[in-house]
Amino acid sequence: MKTILILGGGVGGIVTANELSSSIGGEHNIVLIEKNKEHTFAPSYLWLMNGYRNKKQICVPLKSLLKKNIEVVNANVSEIVPDEHKVKAGEKEYHYDFLVIALGADLAPEKIQGWDHSIHTFYTMEGAVKLHETLKNTSGGKVALVISSMPYKCPGAPQEGAMLVEDFLKSKGIRDKVEISLFTPEPQPLPVAGPELGNAVKSILDQKEIRFHPSMFLESVDTKSKQLFFNGKEPFEYDLLIVIPPHQSPDVIRKSDLTNANGWIDVNPQTLETKHENVFAIGDVASIPLPGRWIHDKPLLLPKAGVFTHLQAVVVAKNIIRKIKGEKGDEKFCADGYCMLEAGEDLAGFAFGDFFGEPHPQVQLKQIGKKWHIGKVLFEKLWLSPVGFKKTFYKNLLQIGGKLIGIPVKL
Ligand SMILES: Cc1cc2nc3c(=O)[nH]c(=O)nc-3n(C[C@H](O)[C@H](O)[C@H](O)COP(=O)(O)OP(=O)(O)OC[C@H]3O[C@@H](n4cnc5c(N)ncnc54)[C@H](O)[C@@H]3O)c2cc1C
Repeated sequence: MKTILILGGGVGGIVTANELSSSIGGEHNIVLIEKNKEHTFAPSYLWLMNGYRNKKQICVPLKSLLKKNIEVVNANVSEIVPDEHKVKAGEKEYHYDFLVIALGADLAPEKIQGWDHSIHTFYTMEGAVKLHETLKNTSGGKVALVISSMPYKCPGAPQEGAMLVEDFLKSKGIRDKVEISLFTPEPQPLPVAGPELGNAVKSILDQKEIRFHPSMFLESVDTKSKQLFFNGKEPFEYDLLIVIPPHQSPDVIRKSDLTNANGWIDVNPQTLETKHENVFAIGDVASIPLPGRWIHDKPLLLPKAGVFTHLQAVVVAKNIIRKIKGEKGDEKFCADGYCMLEAGEDLAGFAFGDFFGEPHPQVQLKQIGKKWHIGKVLFEKLWLSPVGFKKTFYKNLLQIGGKLIGIPVKL
């Protein structure tokens, strides 16, 4: 009997555990270690921010999302020792034959010089709730949304956030009293998705009169005088500041010998195996350079996104099953991804394509419309439904919808 240890019960951990359970559950030990008892659906933070959702609607007990024969340990992982096939969590040690690390990315707002609690973010659940209250009381002025550094989760979320803030203020009847600016160190919106998508998103931002400021490197913030300082640029005054905070790998990963110079885990881009045999890293914690793509002398990385985490989890689970059964050949990860990009007014765009495309990712944007927004809502329902009939219902609905509009949806 083999033991497969999965660290993290977010998107990657849940999908890996369920895939394993469907095939080898009961025959081998599947153990998932997660510090939280509840699971929250991060894409819905944007809807918390604009008041479409409340906290209860986007949090469910983790166990309700997991299939049979998965042992769930509610503990904090404090040490990973690949040379001894051992992990420490809570007061206990766990030994494994296969290890899947899906611990995600942590936010480190304190790395912003001048950061304090007056600065908003919708990248956490609490942050999105607080920002909603502030937006309700806003009467006008300058809103600055700043991507503080790269890489960050979900390349579409900052522009979605800007468009939903715009929509919310429009619905309050004060759009003409507000100036919205989006600052990023990147040279275009979503460079990880290639120039075609970047241009399409830029023109939507232009239509909504959201000012896009590329190549802006945040140096510091002065929350007393409400000024932003960017490298070599004039200070920018704001009334409301929303940031996408710096991201870093969880503490336990940074303490381990698994990281590269940038603090993330290098993996084989096709199998997600780390430098240690039978140790895999998937999702936000993994680092996968996009072929031939560089920005500011650094390799551009595959986006930290649930859609890729999901596909990687399936690949890793299938390869573990093959290894256990002694079968030859590897399942390989390919970066064909998609994203429903919320644009406000219950509309969304649909971006899809090959993120490993060369010389640059080949990702296109379908014209914004209601159907993509409905698709995103259905996906949220599918993700948060307990294992069983309801989940199968939403899965079928999304797959039929995908077939009708000619886009195969891999779930
Ligand atoms: C606002 C927002 C919008 C987004 N929208 C989209 C979208 O539309 N589409 C998309 O594809 N992606 C989107 N994403 C990104 C997506 O949520 C992540 O890429 C995805 O969740 C990554 O999965 P993961 O398993 O790597 O990490 P996570 O889902 O973050 O899971 C990591 C888990 O590890 C646990 N953990 C961490 N450290 C420890 C420890 N020491 N011990 C025990 N447990 C620990 C955490 O509690 C967590 O449950 C969005 C993200 C945000 C913030």
